[in-house]
Amino acid sequence: MSATQFSSELRGQYKAKAYSATSSSSPLAPTIIPRRDPGEDDVQIEILFCGICHSDLHQVRNEWSAMPTVYPCVPGHEIVGRVTKVGSAVTRFKLGDLAAVGCMVDSDRTCSECQDDVEQFCPNMTLTYNSPDVHLGGSTYGGYSDSIVVKEHFVLSLPPNLNLAGAAPLLCAGITTYSPMRHWGVTKGKKVGVVGLGGLGHMAVKFAHALGAYVVVFTTTANKRDDALRLGADEVVVSRDAEQMRKHVGSFDFILDAVSAEHDINAYIRLLRRDGNITLVGAPPKPLPISAFGLLFKRGSLSGSIIGGIAETQEMLDFCGKHNITADVEVIPMQKVNEAYERLLKSDVKYRFSIDMASIKSK
Ligand code: NAP
Ligand code: ZN
Repeated sequence: MSATQFSSELRGQYKAKAYSATSSSSPLAPTIIPRRDPGEDDVQIEILFCGICHSDLHQVRNEWSAMPTVYPCVPGHEIVGRVTKVGSAVTRFKLGDLAAVGCMVDSDRTCSECQDDVEQFCPNMTLTYNSPDVHLGGSTYGGYSDSIVVKEHFVLSLPPNLNLAGAAPLLCAGITTYSPMRHWGVTKGKKVGVVGLGGLGHMAVKFAHALGAYVVVFTTTANKRDDALRLGADEVVVSRDAEQMRKHVGSFDFILDAVSAEHDINAYIRLLRRDGNITLVGAPPKPLPISAFGLLFKRGSLSGSIIGGIAETQEMLDFCGKHNITADVEVIPMQKVNEAYERLLKSDVKYRFSIDMASIKSK
């Protein structure tokens, strides 16, 4: 595919290597995409690692009716790399610095959400991929690429002590689990459940443990037990075992549900104590039925949460730097991405794929 198929002539641009999907049923394949030449408040980043989020798979396969996919789609929103160019107005980054980009690359910066540092709720927020690209026309393209150009405000600083491959997933899996835990007051003395030990779930366990909570992991995969304990869980429950589930009825302050597919959320609502909260971060394509009575009889609440604001993302990265927290990753070359998607669907990854972007340059 040639770059001209993607581009408009609105401003200067250069060519970048990437992997894109051209339809919901086609595999990801090498392509060339345009990136804008950095403007005065832009940072150009050579991408070193990009995590594979289950959202990439949902989006590439057009599984979300609420967020239809525009093709070609270049996914990837767990990006770490090195700064290769900065615009004249950039103050926080210089050539050679480490830099990171998550799920957002722009917002209006004027609305009340932006002023409250929760850009993820801005009505004019631009996602890293599959959002309209105001600079070049077409859609924004994500991190399965050798470089990206992003407004300085949306570029994060990485603590220097973190392993880069393991740090990439912090930019989505990390902030998505850290933010609701901070919002709902996860601290020492709280009993916290994590449902689904995947990319998000394993980060949730690490954060809940670091925040001092008593952590129980709910998994459908009995052989993840030892890993869950090693990651920081105090107890592990195989969720298909009704007897194990019964022991926890009415006892949780907070439960984070990070499951990517259809499942019975009422089984977890039952486990909340009075005024307990269950927050959904998983985004299964189909609606989940909720039993009202499960919530009524304990004044329970069910919430959703999506990533986190830029200031809180930086706070999370600094917290990870201080506590030496990164994702457990399997590093793969870009060429293995389609195989990785199939394995992700089978929960066959411990616990996040991280693409070594040096591989995209080798072809
Ligand atoms: P993942 O690595 O595939 O993990 C999902 C986990 O869910 C699996 O490891 C598995 O855990 C469990 N699971 C899978 N299928 C299941 C089923 N049929 N029944 C019960 N449990 C099942 O995915 P991820 O990258 O962590 O993402 C999880 C979800 O969060 C996705 O829907 C993704 O789109 C969404 N997400 C949301 C946000 C946000 O901002 N809200 C951000 C990122 C991702 P066990 O093997 O332990 O059972
Ligand atoms: Zn994600």
